[in-house]
Amino acid sequence: MDQAELGQRKIRCAKCEESTPDFDIVNYGSTEKGYRQICTRCFNAEIAKLEGLDKFEHVRFDPVELADCKGKVHVFHFRTRLFGPGVALEAFELRDGSPGGYQFQVIGDPNADLLALLARLIDRIRRALSLQHIREGAFGPEIADHGIVRGRIGWDDAQDGQIPLLIIDGQEITWDAFGRMLMTYEGSQFKLEIRDKSEDFE
Ligand SMILES: [Zn+2]
Repeated sequence: MDQAELGQRKIRCAKCEESTPDFDIVNYGSTEKGYRQICTRCFNAEIAKLEGLDKFEHVRFDPVELADCKGKVHVFHFRTRLFGPGVALEAFELRDGSPGGYQFQVIGDPNADLLALLARLIDRIRRALSLQHIREGAFGPEIADHGIVRGRIGWDDAQDGQIPLLIIDGQEITWDAFGRMLMTYEGSQFKLEIRDKSEDFE
C-alpha cells in the first residue's frame, strides 16, 4: 500500500453506513430537503429508481495495478456514477487521497454490462500508459521526438486557477515548465486540440 492510500480519508455513508473513501462519496439531496453524504452505490441506486433503470447493477471494482512503458506501476481506483441516460466509469490514481495523476473516463449505456465498460476503460488506460510524451533530457524534461503531447488540463491552486496545471504522462507539469519545453521548438508551428475527458484521445 503506498503513501496515497495510507492517507485515505473515509466517510460513513448516510444511507448504508459503510465507511467509504471520500472520493466515492456524493452530496445528494436538494436545498429544500437538505443534503446527505452517501456512497456512489447508494447514489446510483437512487438514480436508477428515479430513472426506472431496473436492470442497472452497481459493481464496485477493486483497484488495478498497471505498468507504464518505463515499467513504473500505477494503481488505478474506480468510480461508477449514473447520470440519467448514461453511466460514467472513471479510473484514477490517488494523490494525497484524492483523484490525481492519470485519470480516465468512459461513458456507457446503464443497461449494458459494466464489465464490458470496464474492459473498454482498461484498454484505454493500457494504450495511454504505452505512450511517453515527456522524457528526461540533458537539460531537464523535454518533449519526446514524435512531437505530440497529450494530457489533461488541471487546476493549479498555486496560481488560483488562473493558469493551468498540466497532467502529462500522469505527472503534474506547471505551465511555466511546459513553456520552457516548447522553447526548444521556437519558430515551429503547433496545433492545439481540446477533447472531452470521455473521448478517445489518439
Ligand atoms: Zn451507501
